[in-house]
Amino acid sequence: LTFAKLGLNSALLKALPAELVQPSRVQQLAIPVVLAGQDVLALAQTGSGKTLAFGLPLLQKLQQSLPPLSQSLVSPKSINTAKHNAKGGGVYQAEAFASVLILVPTRELAMQVTEALQTLASNLFAQYATLQPITIQTLCGGVELETQLAELAAKPQVLVATPGRLLDLCQQSHIGLSAIKYLVFDEADRLLEMGFWPDIQKLLALMPKSRQTLLFSATFPPALEQVASQLLNHSAQRIE
Ligand code: AMP
Repeated sequence: LTFAKLGLNSALLKALPAELVQPSRVQQLAIPVVLAGQDVLALAQTGSGKTLAFGLPLLQKLQQSLPPLSQSLVSPKSINTAKHNAKGGGVYQAEAFASVLILVPTRELAMQVTEALQTLASNLFAQYATLQPITIQTLCGGVELETQLAELAAKPQVLVATPGRLLDLCQQSHIGLSAIKYLVFDEADRLLEMGFWPDIQKLLALMPKSRQTLLFSATFPPALEQVASQLLNHSAQRIE
């Protein structure tokens, strides 16, 4: 089986790093399902190729939705303002520009995922100078807030974030989540183990209900099975 058979377009195929010849198992199973717009619950260890199993189809969808650069210069995208009544009474007003959110448990994983997606995005942009570049930003604790705020000014379409820092930025109205169309949980079992569930619930309340959700996890403990039914829709595909 080749990457082309999975439904990836020629631009994405040309953007693949040269060492990727054959799709891994999780890539074979997940890529067509993600492209078809279905939710996914995938059992995938680190090293299984899980990052590209969600990264490739999501970047393809994102690339197809971007207007040509010339068009976006003539008619700048209207500013999307999100207004939310959070439980607890606060009203957040913030600009929402990102359509993809990848939640990860650690800063290290955030960096790895960002780097893998960045490589694909710059290979894609190299082919299409007329398209808007896809911009990706890491948002995680341990990084100076000022630095992250400066980067947010570029309005990245893809956020790779740890839940705590992202929630802080939302609560301080630095970013809105009302434009999120694709939500990925990477290493979902660790997100739960590390106690991020309350923050995740607050983040979910800031996102549209109609979205595509992809949940990747090395293990499916009962606690995760329980929350998975809240996160995924009924037609979610289970991949093991
Ligand atoms: P991951 O499971 O996403 O952390 O990926 C682990 C490593 O496998 C990364 O360095 C990827 O570049 C690499 N990788 C991902 N997919 C493939 C593939 N289909 N063939 C060879 N290497 C891959």
